Amino acid sequence: MDSDLEAVKKPKKKRSGALFTFYVLVIYVAVQFFWWSYLMVDQSHEIYARKMELISAYSSPEQSKVKKELLNKEMVKKWYMVAGEGTVFLSILVLGVLMVRRSFRKESELATKQNTFLHSITHEFKSPIASLRLQLETMQKRNLNLAQQEKALVNAIDDTERLDILIEKTLMAARIDNGELPMHVEFMNLSEKLKELVDQIGRSYPNRNIVTNIQNDVFLHIDPWALNSIVANLMENAFLYSPQEKTVVVGLKWEGNFVQLSVKDQGLGIVDKEKENIFRKFYRADSTKGYKGTGLGLFLVDYFVKAHQGTIVVKNNVPEGSIFELSFPTTRTDAHR
Ligand code: ADP
Repeated sequence: MDSDLEAVKKPKKKRSGALFTFYVLVIYVAVQFFWWSYLMVDQSHEIYARKMELISAYSSPEQSKVKKELLNKEMVKKWYMVAGEGTVFLSILVLGVLMVRRSFRKESELATKQNTFLHSITHEFKSPIASLRLQLETMQKRNLNLAQQEKALVNAIDDTERLDILIEKTLMAARIDNGELPMHVEFMNLSEKLKELVDQIGRSYPNRNIVTNIQNDVFLHIDPWALNSIVANLMENAFLYSPQEKTVVVGLKWEGNFVQLSVKDQGLGIVDKEKENIFRKFYRADSTKGYKGTGLGLFLVDYFVKAHQGTIVVKNNVPEGSIFELSFPTTRTDAHR
């Protein structure tokens, strides 16, 4: 863990060193600018005073008056020129500093994001790998009977599945972070599609009781792949965080000009203060720390729902459990296209 933290800290040190050198350079340029300006002004004053002396010494009083006026005008012109050039130079310097600072900040934010992400996934990957190793070592070292071997194998397969899911979700989360997960929406009969998906996911959970409450002919523009991920993540959570004998209800209906998709369970429930946090990347509520999960499912669901201009509300189910209610804006006329 310490070496992970070191890796996170090092680029930060390098960046602040570069920023420090940049500011030293800017201060040096600014000081030079004021110093040369001062010298130039001083020299101009001297030239002006000498010229005045010469005019007074070698011209008649009338000529001297005209010449001095001309010299003053020339001086004023020169001042405007110097002030103008100075302002342009300073503006370019300030603009340059602001632009460089902004790009430094952007780079720094990106690097911090990448480091945090790397740090979190390293941590998340370690636990299934450690568990897998333990199962394999147990099988290697001990003289296990058939039932014990079977149990260790089942656990090992569970761990590889968990790793597989984690890799898949991590790749998706990384693509989201890099802005590489565009949506390809299709106009579809969501009612039909949702029934298919629920059947398909349900086949992996033969011992679970699933009830559907799906209104017919609900149409929506949605990316089929995103829909798949949304439904799978919500249903898998509902199964994971509720006892086997409890029912999971998947619903779909029109709600005014919105399409409302919901998944209800009768499980652990989610306390109010956690309801917003659970959509954060890698976040897992304290109440479910003992369960095997990735902390990425709801982050992906949240992204997909927002990418379709939708919203998610988490409610308490009665008497127990949670309801995830997703609303997507649409127009009812969609249904008649
Ligand atoms: P995980 O793989 O840990 O389930 P998610 O992002 O899907 O990751 O969920 C984040 C956290 O939200 C979970 O760890 C759990 O604490 C909480 N959570 C999600 N769905 C439910 C649910 N149906 N019931 C209770 N808690 C839930």
